[in-house]
This record gives sequence, structure tokens and C-alpha cells, in this order.
Amino acid sequence: MGQPSGEIVARPLVARACGCMCEFQHYAVDKYRAQRLAKFQKTRCPNCVAKLNEEQKRAAALLPSKGEALQLLPNGTQITMTRRPDGVWAGTLTASGKTVEATGDGPQGVSVTLARLWVAASGAKPPEPKPK
Ligand SMILES: [Zn+2]
Repeated sequence: MGQPSGEIVARPLVARACGCMCEFQHYAVDKYRAQRLAKFQKTRCPNCVAKLNEEQKRAAALLPSKGEALQLLPNGTQITMTRRPDGVWAGTLTASGKTVEATGDGPQGVSVTLARLWVAASGAKPPEPKPK
């Protein structure tokens, strides 16, 4: 995409994907203004992107690690895995009367996701981290 150049001739407020109103800069020379505007409207503002990344990091930190999650699964845990026509794997895990579902690119990844989701849903506590 060519870089816009020249003076900024207008700064209308445009709603972005996150719902925030942000200033969209109109340059004097901008062949691709329509595309830039479309992309602008389809994406979140930098603040919300940062917030979202932060939240995802925090949520991921709360989940037990792969090894912990698999160890916390109780005896009798059942996992079923189905490869769908679109190539995506859909898995269901049932343990202690709780069922969680997840999808992913491969059965291995899906089973780990299922274990982590189940542990989060069941409130099973990972062992206390060893003091360093
Ligand atoms: Zn925003």
C-alpha cells in the first residue's frame, strides 16, 4: 500500500472495531484512503489492542501449564476427538461430571486445551509452586 503524503487535510472521528471513536487522518495525497479507512474501521484502536493483549496474557497465566493440567485430570477422564471436514479438530472432555469443548489444528493441541479448560472450570487447584 502506498504511503499517504502531503498535509493532513481533515481529521474526522471514525468508530473503530472496538467502538472507540478515533481520529482518522485524511492526507492531501492518498490513493488508498478508502482502503485505509476500511482497515481503520475493522481494527481496534491501539489502546484496546493493548488492553486485550494484557487480558489474554492474564487469562493464560491463570490457567495451569500443559503438564499440570494433564496431571490434574482425574481417573476416568474421557476425551473424544473428531476431525471435521474443514480440517479442524473438535474435542470434548468429560471428567467428574463436567464437560468442556475445544477446537484446534491437531488432536494433541486440542487435548491440552481441553485439559486446561477442564481444570479452570472444575476449580481443581494445581499444586502450590515450590518456593524458590
Ligand atoms: Zn478502542
